[in-house]
Amino acid sequence: MKKTVKIKIDIEKCKGCRLCETVCPMKVIKFSEGVNKKGVQYVVLEHPEKCTGCGLCIIMCPDCALELEEATGETGGKNKK
Ligand code: SF4
Ligand code: SF4
Repeated sequence: MKKTVKIKIDIEKCKGCRLCETVCPMKVIKFSEGVNKKGVQYVVLEHPEKCTGCGLCIIMCPDCALELEEATGETGGKNKK
């Protein structure tokens, strides 16, 4: 069964420091067009399929706005609960 990884971004925690964007070896993290409730331009995953799940962005984020999500299955869908 294929395992896929995905980075979940809590946009309300993001302060737009760009540290995650700087360390991402795959260059998949980019600034969004929008702003969060704090008026901060938050980051998004531009090409989530290219994310390797290396976790560097999670380690770097000073505000713990990033989380690793894992999914298994043919569809690469969400985990069932
Ligand atoms: S887990 Fe790695 S490849 Fe994926 S977005 Fe973060 S730094 Fe980039
Ligand atoms: S490191 Fe965290 S706070 Fe900084 S831009 Fe990335 S997600 Fe936002």
